Amino acid sequence: MNVGTFLTKAARAHPARIAVDGGGTTLTYAELDAQAAAFADGLRRRGYRRGDRIALFLPNRAEYFPILFGLLKGGFVAVPVNAKLHPAELAYILDHSGARAVVVDEPPGPPAQVARIAVGRTGPGSFAEIVATGDAHGFADAEADPDDLAWLFYTSGTTGRPKGAMLSHRNLCASTMNALADMCDFQPEDVVLHVAPLSHGSGLYALPSIARGARNHVCPGTSFVPADVLATIEREQVTVIAFLAPTMIHRLLDAKTAPSTLRRIIYGGAPMDPSLAQAAIDRFGPIFVQLYGQGEAPMTITYLRPQDHRGKALSSTGIARTDVEVRMVDETGMPLPEGAEGEVCVRGDVVMLGYWNDTAATAAALRGGWLHTGDVGRFENGRLYLLSRRNDVIISGGSNIYPREVEEALLRHPAVREACVFGEPDPHWGESVAAAVVSSSAVEAGELMAWCRESIASFKKPKRIEFVAELPKNAYGKVVRRQVRDELGSRQPSRQECGSAVPGAGECSTRSSGPSRKES
Ligand code: AMP
Repeated sequence: MNVGTFLTKAARAHPARIAVDGGGTTLTYAELDAQAAAFADGLRRRGYRRGDRIALFLPNRAEYFPILFGLLKGGFVAVPVNAKLHPAELAYILDHSGARAVVVDEPPGPPAQVARIAVGRTGPGSFAEIVATGDAHGFADAEADPDDLAWLFYTSGTTGRPKGAMLSHRNLCASTMNALADMCDFQPEDVVLHVAPLSHGSGLYALPSIARGARNHVCPGTSFVPADVLATIEREQVTVIAFLAPTMIHRLLDAKTAPSTLRRIIYGGAPMDPSLAQAAIDRFGPIFVQLYGQGEAPMTITYLRPQDHRGKALSSTGIARTDVEVRMVDETGMPLPEGAEGEVCVRGDVVMLGYWNDTAATAAALRGGWLHTGDVGRFENGRLYLLSRRNDVIISGGSNIYPREVEEALLRHPAVREACVFGEPDPHWGESVAAAVVSSSAVEAGELMAWCRESIASFKKPKRIEFVAELPKNAYGKVVRRQVRDELGSRQPSRQECGSAVPGAGECSTRSSGPSRKES
């Protein structure tokens, strides 16, 4: 089935219900379906063909919906790109995907060789003009083979150039069914808030939400202002937040109010600090469901149910989604028993077709019918405990040290707001553990090292801690560990060394070589 047909069916069942609104635009299901169909037909009349890649370089706005669903219904391939990316990063994705056109807010913008479809104005070649020249009445959704490409999902690129995960109609159908089964049972009565980028998780969750006839409220723009988000939730009586990154939850906690209409908040995409999760539950109630997933297997590989947000399970990413197999393998690809640490592998209808134009990366990721995620973890009581990205494992004196475990130990200290742990070359141990910390009150590096020693093995504690004003994050709010390592890892102490961190004191305020490693 063509996943664009989710909308076609919902429009038949709920024509007068509001499908999407926000930023002054309101479309009922009948209107959204007609606009999406007219856009697809208008593109066909301009010579665009099935399988053509069309990029969306748009901040969140209500028009995202008719564009995305129009592309799906027409059998085109949507290439959503985060609107916060640098023009050079956009140019790379346009070039790499071979996009024939890019939908933008307002021209000028992306490179001239790609046709631009502007949403923010009327005129030849604009979104409005394409819709006006398309015929919604005679339109039928393109027949889609389950393996036809529907969405090129560019990964967030925390480990290098972004790669285009090829998602088929089958993948998106599986993702949608899974969202309804495991993450949130969207209903027509729901008001679903989209505040994270629609190019990523929030856009993927638009599929189940639209399939079920819910109302989608879009916070326009690219910025996340906690007070505005909370006010929107109250005003619009939001019941479900489609997707939040953990950093967004962190920022919501700074506000004093807690809305009462919410029944479900879906979050994930990056490690969640258990103490932050607990604080969020205390504020908003037991309404959080965490997803662990990646663009290569959207949106979920494992999920942590609201009921399991407690005790030890809070540090896990929960159980495998209903319709996938998840297992751990060692470096040779051999399956490991429960409890053993290895690479997370996934098999099921949700696994991507491969990477666009990248046979080497495809062959590395898809081996023996399994997606090799590059994430390292272990299962305990059926729950997945993620330890790190495979490339981030620190090998010190022959022992594996997982940055996440050290970060969690640091984050348990009341003065630590954010932490990023990384390995750096060490002549004696091969690698040693270093940490960049954002503190919320004055604290000494030595105190944090002693603190870590209380809960993790001594050889895992950071040997060097740098206090920084903030950690570098990508357009999806994920900490870019590679950049932290590059910027802080090899730098020699060049500035004044001091014994304690003062919040907001600037980039680096302390450096310590730490005690020697006789314990290991
Ligand atoms: P992307 O495909 O760009 O969204 O990145 C996916 C990666 O983010 C995964 O391979 C994990 O390394 C990380 N990730 C996603 N969800 C979680 C989670 N719940 N906890 C920890 N890491 C996560």
